[in-house]
Parts: sequence; C-alpha cells; structure tokens
Amino acid sequence: MPGVVIVGAGHAGARCAHALRQAGYAGPVTLLGDEGAEPYERPPLSKSFLLEDGRLAPIAPADSYAAAGIVLRPSARAAAIDPAARRVELADGASIAYRHLVLATGSVARMPAFAGLAPGDVLALRNAADAARLRQALRPGQRVLLIGGGFVGLEVAASATRLGCRVTVVEKQPRLLPRAVSAWAAGRVLALHAGQGVEVKLGCAPLDIGRAGAAFQYVLDDGTRGEADVVLAGMGATPDVALAAHAGLALNPPPVHGVLVDEACRTSAQGIYAIGDIAAPRDAGGGCRVRLESWENAERQAARAAATIARAEQGGGPQSAEPAADDAPWFWTDQFDMNLQIIGWPAGAVRHVAREAGTGKAVGFHFDAAGVLVGAELFNSGRERRVVRQLVAAGRGVDAEELADPAVPLAAALR
Ligand code: FAD
Repeated sequence: MPGVVIVGAGHAGARCAHALRQAGYAGPVTLLGDEGAEPYERPPLSKSFLLEDGRLAPIAPADSYAAAGIVLRPSARAAAIDPAARRVELADGASIAYRHLVLATGSVARMPAFAGLAPGDVLALRNAADAARLRQALRPGQRVLLIGGGFVGLEVAASATRLGCRVTVVEKQPRLLPRAVSAWAAGRVLALHAGQGVEVKLGCAPLDIGRAGAAFQYVLDDGTRGEADVVLAGMGATPDVALAAHAGLALNPPPVHGVLVDEACRTSAQGIYAIGDIAAPRDAGGGCRVRLESWENAERQAARAAATIARAEQGGGPQSAEPAADDAPWFWTDQFDMNLQIIGWPAGAVRHVAREAGTGKAVGFHFDAAGVLVGAELFNSGRERRVVRQLVAAGRGVDAEELADPAVPLAAALR
C-alpha cells in the first residue's frame, strides 16, 4: 500500500517522519536521503564540528527510525516526481509509489563563478561532506578569503580565527547581514569580528580569483590584491526546488523563491507538501514575501505537514490538526563568545532602543512606523528570549523607554 514518501533526509524530513508517528499516522513512511548518512543537525557544522571533535550530532537516535517503522534510505536520491501517477523516480532507476509526498530538499549554497577556478576550488558549507573538507583546510596560519558576510560564513570566520587562520571577509553590502539584522546589531557583529582580528571589507566584492599554485590570487573591486590558501563562499543559499519545478509545482519567483505552500504546507499539487528551507508560505496576495531558512522553521513545518497528513488519513480536514499560528520567528547564531538570537523582523524597522546590561549582554528592540514592536535582537541574553518573544508576538505598541531601562523587568511590559 503506498504511504508517505519524504524526499530529503535533512532536518525537516527526519522530523516529519517521526512527527507522523506522533500524530497517529500508522501507514508506511519512507525517508529518502542522498548524503549516505543518518540525518544530522546542521547548526553545529560551522561551530563545534570545526572547533571540536568533527562528530555529527544526530537528529534522532540511529535505531529510532526502525523502531518507529520508518524506512530510512540514506542513499536513495530522488530524480523526478510524477504527480499524475503519484510516483517518485529514483536516480538508480527504481521508483516508489506514494499517497502523500513531502518535499524537504533544503538549500544549496550560492557559489561565485570565476573563469580561473575549477569546481571544488571554492569551498562552501551546507552539509557534512563540506564540513569535513573545511575542517581539513582550516589549519593554523592558513589565509582564508570569505566571500560574503552571511550567518554561516561569519560563523566559519569565527571558527577559523579560533583555529589560528587569518580571515578576510569581503561583503559587497555596506554592512554585514543587511537582510537579517538591524544596523545596530550589524555594528556589534562587525566590532566583534574586528576585535578578534578578522579583516572585514564592506562595500567591496571580488573582481577576479584565480589559482596561483597551491594558493589563490584575488583582486577586489576596490583595487586590493591578495592571496589566500582557502576561498570560502558565504553568500547564502537558494532553495533546492529542482524536483518541484520539474514536476510543475507552483513556485514563488526570485528573489524570495521557493515552493508555494498554504498554511498546512500543501503545494499546488494534490498530495504533495513542501517543508523546511524550500517552503514559501503563500500570503493573502497569493505570493510569498518571506521564506525562512532556520532550524525552528524546519521543526514547525515538519510537525504541521505531519499533522495535516495524519488528519487527512483519519478523515479530517487539515485546519484543526495544525499547531496554532506561528509566533514571531526565531533564529540564533554563535560567533566567538557571542550568542545572538533574532526574533521577528528587526531589519525593516524604523526605530530602535537598546537595553544594555553590560559585559556583552544587550537587547535591541525594533519598532515600525506605527510604534509596534516588530523585532528584537538578544546578545548573550538567551534567558530573556521567552519574554521578548511574547512581547514581539503580541504585536502591539509597548513603552520603548521602559524596555530600554535594565532596571525595569521585561515582564512588566507584557502587562
Ligand atoms: P536540510 O537540513 O538542508 O536537508 C535537506 C536534505 O535533502 C539534504 O540532506 C539534501 O542532501 C537532501 N536532498 C536534496 N535533494 C534530494 C533528492 N533529490 N533526493 C534525496 N535527498 C535530497 N539555523 C538556525 O536556526 N540556527 C543556526 O545556528 C543554524 N546554523 C546553520 C549552520 C549551517 C552550516 C547550515 C548549513 C545551516 C544552519 N542553520 C541554522 C539552518 C538550518 O540548519 C536549516 O534551515 C535546516 O537544516 C533546514 O532543514 P531542511 O530539511 O529544509 O534542509
């Protein structure tokens, strides 16, 4: 009997497989991966994996898949989908029938293209194989050129610096992380890296990079010339929508891109769902303005798709099986000794106040033109996350002066 087939044994895929059982779905579940490994957590790849023992952190215990009746096939790449026949074609020529298909194919790193470089010359970090290659390359004294100052890239810059490398970050925007954080937070991140010896060149991009024996020579558009032993792309990622596009599923156009889904993670094709980095939630206008690439988003959409499928199998509609509407999105990054947690949408705000608590602890609160709190950024202040998230999720005006005063408990603003 055809059951649920999940394409992509990454974060969202693995979580969805288990969530189906938790939601009461008893039919067959097949989880198809293409990395040849059991599903693992990606956030440690840029942090502890490079700095410590190089061990992968499993998403679920190895024996939990079989114990839950989940058929995990870690080396079964899906090559195509036939939505009319409800079949997935595998790269080895076999095919699998499905009743429900969940696409969780994640993202691929954006790579620079220079005529003098061969494939593999520029490293990126999306998966365990990339991380193993990077771990080998980041030896003390190595000169690292990081193209782009996104989150993953900056985490690697911090790890590489700690490993004794000399790191140069080249970011073409006038500040770091322009789409994701406020100018206030970007300034703090820049100061942190500069203070740790990372050379950060803003408003500047590579014009050319080529091989020079074992090393690389580069020219930047401000005329700077330099050499590097390691070149790393930190330019962000694009959703891997190849299968979905080939199958004719509705996509959101770039720059947001992604597979359009409704609030129950259903795509435009009957019985096909999309979750995690590839999912572009439709807004009231039928398009998508924001697609999230985060650990928590993968968790939530996995649970939501699983609940929808389980309920459909039990004869119910999708709506009532869904978790409550998302509260403000949450993302974290660890760089050097800084833990930065981002809640809501700080980047587009028009006003901000900072609550400075000394010793690297601070919270920035960000307001829209109507005075509504739309985002917050917590530096080394994880204990405040719960209450700050409640404040942002409440989506109303709060007293900015009160928030900025460390003597006033944050919970007071909730009343
Ligand atoms: P992924 O976890 O990327 O999984 C997709 C899987 O699908 C991959 O295994 C891929 O190989 C597989 N696949 C693709 N195509 C096929 C196919 N045709 N057939 C079979 N399998 C296929 N988020 C945070 O919130 N905080 C962090 O600190 C943080 N750090 C990160 C650090 C790194 C280095 C990376 C890469 C990501 C980080 N993230 C972080 C983001 C978070 O890990 C991702 O948003 C999350 O993993 C997305 O889950 P996903 O299942 O959509 O994609």
